[in-house]
Amino acid sequence: MAGGMTTQQDITGFEGELVYPGDVDYDQRRAIWNAMHDRRPALIARCRAPRDVAAAIAHGRREGMPIAVRGGGHSMPGHSTCDEGVVIDLRPMNAVRVDPVARRARVQGGALLGELDRATQAHGLVVPAGVVSHTGVAGLTLGGGVGRLMRRFGLTIDSLLAAEVVTADGQVLTASEDENPDLFWGLRGGGGNFGVVAEFEFALHELRDLLILATFHPIDRAPEVLERGRQEMASAAPDELLWTSFLRKAPPLPWISPQLVGRPGVTSLIEWSGEAGRGRRLLEAIQAEFRPIAGSLETVPFLEIQTMTDEIFAAGKRTYIKAGFARELSDPLIAALCGQGAEVGSPFSQIEVLAMGGAIRRVAPAATAFPHRDAAWLINIPATWEDAGADDEEIAWARRSFAAVGPHLTGGKYVNFMGDDERSDAGGAYGATLRRLQEVKRAYDPENVFRLNQNIDPQM
Ligand SMILES: Cc1cc2nc3c(=O)[nH]c(=O)nc-3n(C[C@H](O)[C@H](O)[C@H](O)COP(=O)(O)OP(=O)(O)OC[C@H]3O[C@@H](n4cnc5c(N)ncnc54)[C@H](O)[C@@H]3O)c2cc1C
Repeated sequence: MAGGMTTQQDITGFEGELVYPGDVDYDQRRAIWNAMHDRRPALIARCRAPRDVAAAIAHGRREGMPIAVRGGGHSMPGHSTCDEGVVIDLRPMNAVRVDPVARRARVQGGALLGELDRATQAHGLVVPAGVVSHTGVAGLTLGGGVGRLMRRFGLTIDSLLAAEVVTADGQVLTASEDENPDLFWGLRGGGGNFGVVAEFEFALHELRDLLILATFHPIDRAPEVLERGRQEMASAAPDELLWTSFLRKAPPLPWISPQLVGRPGVTSLIEWSGEAGRGRRLLEAIQAEFRPIAGSLETVPFLEIQTMTDEIFAAGKRTYIKAGFARELSDPLIAALCGQGAEVGSPFSQIEVLAMGGAIRRVAPAATAFPHRDAAWLINIPATWEDAGADDEEIAWARRSFAAVGPHLTGGKYVNFMGDDERSDAGGAYGATLRRLQEVKRAYDPENVFRLNQNIDPQM
């Protein structure tokens, strides 16, 4: 049957909730984080268990419909929805079970970072993941997972021990170093290409709070700020130190006075996750020399910093993203970043300059499917705005900015920070791991049932 012909009906073996066009909650259930993707699926299958996932996959395949898989719904290119297809919605599967003695957590495929953080922090433990609490664990993990603890504890995939995966033919497989190790390898960086992850198992690390130096400098001082970041993050930098700078208009945050909000500049978060005394000495020295026009140096509970920008990045805005990796923060790269940072339009748009290295680099390049371990910096340019009338202008700024910084980047792309016009850039996303990823794809999804993602074409 052609796509879009599904009428209200039960699906054999499905015990979750089915939402069809016309149902009262259809519009609420079909919306994803990025309002640019206003799609109308034929059916939203809200799953409660792996058997529901298998039944929904079988139904979509039988009906010849596209199948989108949705965890937290934060895909910026809109991969987790589709027109006239099935959305397999994992959100009802959001349980997080922590074993504090074994230091492990089992996390269902629809959990959000906030749900994971709250459950693990109840025991003073943590999974290193992203920085906005309404982001989905699943999509973030499958692409790699960068965040404020990555230099200390590695990418999110570096703490992944196992996953339970529902494959295109409805099997429920365990993927780990011991079982289906090729699938386990591919899941760690290969996006949602191989199946639907019903549950992740993570190793946990000890952490309750961070010492954070937060600063704001006007845009004319941005070169000085980025040069200082380069200096602090040079090769001998401790893993406990993380530098992130955001070229943007000053956001409404507690440590920025209301008169400054909206002023173009550079906001930095210089975060320390190690022994407090050493961190305080280091961050106080930076603060003293740095003379920000707004700033604070405080010990911040992990849950507080993880939710600090939730509101600024609330769902329903429009986003277009470009990003890449750099081996160094060279003078020409700094000049390009600052030049484009001065042209930021929307109060939500920013150029993010994120230090990598540390624990990320100590994992062997071939150990997981994430191929960018040697990068020193991740440069992320998410344009974010509210009014559809500004689409052209904001997209043009992000493209211009990326064109300016692009010559100083590696050419590699982070799967989770790619735009919808980069779907054909599998080489950029997967780099040296692409060939092996294609073998794994042929083994687990030879018909490319899971193609609404940064796709690995099994036929290539
Ligand atoms: C506000 C915001 C903040 C962000 N912050 C960070 C950050 O700090 N660090 C970072 O690394 N990234 C960050 N990202 C990017 C984020 O990692 C990606 O958008 C990611 O895809 C989101 O995962 P999700 O489950 O919410 O997305 P979805 O839109 O639900 O899914 C994204 C992709 O993953 C697939 N997928 C989802 N669930 C499953 C599953 N259970 N099994 C198999 N495939 C699945 C989907 O099919 C789709 O291809 C952020 C994004 C936003 C919008």
